[in-house]
Amino acid sequence: MVTKIDHIGIAVANLDEALRFYEEVLGIKCTGTEVVEEQKVKTAFLPIGDTKVELLESTDKDGPIARFIEKRGQGIQHIAYRVENIEEALEEVKKKGIRLIDEKPRKGAGGAKIAFLHPKSTFGVLIELCER
Ligand code: ZN
Repeated sequence: MVTKIDHIGIAVANLDEALRFYEEVLGIKCTGTEVVEEQKVKTAFLPIGDTKVELLESTDKDGPIARFIEKRGQGIQHIAYRVENIEEALEEVKKKGIRLIDEKPRKGAGGAKIAFLHPKSTFGVLIELCER
């Protein structure tokens, strides 16, 4: 069903500081930042090989990323798997009894269609399905 790891989402408290580490220490160049209002998040994408790192900074103290950092600290927040047809993929995982966070796809950064699966159904990992 999934074809590749689209990106790894990492929650950070300060996007500029984190970007400095990824760009200056690891040498991965950021190709752009974007604010996704619905998710109260500012994202930065850093392509590496065939996948990407997505840094996520909350734009609101009550946003999901702020709450994640409050509970668990900075770090890996989700893994995004690429699918060819997200509506079909959601139907399929639902049929298999997996709990969904998003019944319907929503708009993610970079014009992608995304939907999250509940970590309670996925061995503790917040999984994003992503179609682009
Ligand atoms: Zn993501």
